[in-house]
Amino acid sequence: MRVITTIQEMRKEISKQKSHSKSIGFVPTMGFLHEGHLTLLKKARIENDIVVLSIFVNPLQFGPKEDFSTYPRDFARDQSLAECEGVDLIFYPSVEEMYPHKTSARVIIQDRTDVLCGKSRPGHFDGVATVLTKLFNIVLPTRAYFGTKDAQQVAVVEGLISDLNFPIELIPVEIVREEDGLAKSSRNVNLLPEERAKASVLYKSLTAAKEAIDKGVRDPEAIKTLVSTMIRSESNGKIDYVEIYSYPQLKSVEYLADIFIIALAVQFSRVRLIDNIILDLGQEIGGENECFDT
Ligand code: AMP
Repeated sequence: MRVITTIQEMRKEISKQKSHSKSIGFVPTMGFLHEGHLTLLKKARIENDIVVLSIFVNPLQFGPKEDFSTYPRDFARDQSLAECEGVDLIFYPSVEEMYPHKTSARVIIQDRTDVLCGKSRPGHFDGVATVLTKLFNIVLPTRAYFGTKDAQQVAVVEGLISDLNFPIELIPVEIVREEDGLAKSSRNVNLLPEERAKASVLYKSLTAAKEAIDKGVRDPEAIKTLVSTMIRSESNGKIDYVEIYSYPQLKSVEYLADIFIIALAVQFSRVRLIDNIILDLGQEIGGENECFDT
């Protein structure tokens, strides 16, 4: 496994691999790896000749009051976990390497960002799309792997790849959870112990929503109320949103049908957590390309 920190060196290595017609599986991350990331790497390892992991905490996607400086980082640990997963190349650039001067071009996402995290975090998905465009142009992946934990990100990346004609296959991967159901996240370490103890209510509320839908409830407002009430009664987290939209289009729905997402974001004292389930008329899918069948 090689660790590469410059774009120039990365380009050299990628063109060598491409000249041997190697397929490249790419897993972009912000590091502080956990089993969610490792699942993406495992899938990439099975499906490609070469696996590239990028570790870059992208300042462009953080708002001024967000947790860029406190975002957890541990490159030595990430490196040994990546080695165990059979990663071939880690791309680990500095901020200066990725953004050496005030940029004169960036990517603007025009659709699917007026809701959920796009609404709460203005500019976030433009920052994500800009860094991904740069990374895609540097890594030239055959396939790129993204977790449906960040379901809106998957929807935005699907639009980015298709609208800007990147010759990349998007592979969504379903959410990996802790034993109590909490979605694995690098940010979970910033939960206070008493918050961590109660944070499983996020997934419990989504499971309760699924059960209600399985029993025939089709009113999105009733489901949103059920989820919010449960979270409020079992945790001190402040609800940022609990929403239901068609997926991956992220349009409002008045009646639950076809494929839709129930998504939530909750602010705890030092960390904001997100979670979701994607359902197909009661059939949970949460991953694979089935997300885009409609
Ligand atoms: P991040 O480092 O948080 O930017 O995440 C990098 C990639 O890992 C993104 O595609 C995430 O959606 C994915 N990911 C993060 N947490 C999980 C999880 N619990 N299960 C599956 N994928 C995840």
